Amino acid sequence: MATVKYDEATRLYPGNDKPSVDRLNIDIEDGEFLVLVGPSGSGKSTALRMLAGLEEVNGGKIWIGDRDVTNLSPKDRDVAMVFQNYALYPHMSVADNMGFALKIAGVDKAEIRKRVEEAAKILDLTPYLERKPKALSGGQRQRVAMGRAIVRSPQVFLMDEPLSNLDAKLRVQTRTQIASLQRRLGVTTVYVTHDQVEAMTMGDRVAVLKDGILQQVDSPRRMYDHP
Ligand code: ADP
Ligand code: ADP
Repeated sequence: MATVKYDEATRLYPGNDKPSVDRLNIDIEDGEFLVLVGPSGSGKSTALRMLAGLEEVNGGKIWIGDRDVTNLSPKDRDVAMVFQNYALYPHMSVADNMGFALKIAGVDKAEIRKRVEEAAKILDLTPYLERKPKALSGGQRQRVAMGRAIVRSPQVFLMDEPLSNLDAKLRVQTRTQIASLQRRLGVTTVYVTHDQVEAMTMGDRVAVLKDGILQQVDSPRRMYDHP
């Protein structure tokens, strides 16, 4: 079961005088789409990176299911992350980009091919599998970056401002695609954005951060009712 639990999770960067994430408590349900929202500098990326294992936790714990992952390396936790700058390997085809992590992990070719084809179908990338990234649009590249994460069938899917490099129209389109993809896959997802509209339209629940401190966690509906 891929529940996620932030339990008093704290990150104090060396040299800073106050924590960037301060005793964060959130319980995320299996299959839930949780959006972390807040202004720039509020600690969203730090909180996400702590869950990914990319940032040290100085206090408290982080759990995935019944495993304490607080001190595990990124590769020992079953998470996949899509970044804002989704660098694809320019010399590799879309298919090879999507299958690369599996290849490194030693998964056999037939299995990789199967998973890449499935992901491509879900993401409307089938016609582009043999192309190089530079022959794709920004939205298509973003979907390849997501495909790269999906093929690993992670327990937890992490996204850090994945739409911020897209233009407004594409952002709205991709927002809908990501939300419906998440529901279809049913994978527990934590999504970081500073965009309130994104937060309110995509998440099952929205967690609001300010100065590293959690202000509120609730469904978008209840937030509208009780702002
Ligand atoms: P957000 O994602 O909400 O913009 P961040 O998690 O990036 O916020 O940053 C939260 C706070 O932590 C900010 O005040 C930022 O300056 C500080 N911070 C982030 N990374 C570092 C770092 N490597 N060293 C010191 N301070 C950092
Ligand atoms: P290698 O480059 O190691 O000889 P391949 O050419 O078979 O292996 O491609 C690397 C990986 O990307 C493969 O494991 C393969 O499954 C996947 N792949 C390549 N082309 C496609 C495709 N058209 N459809 C689905 N998966 C593909």
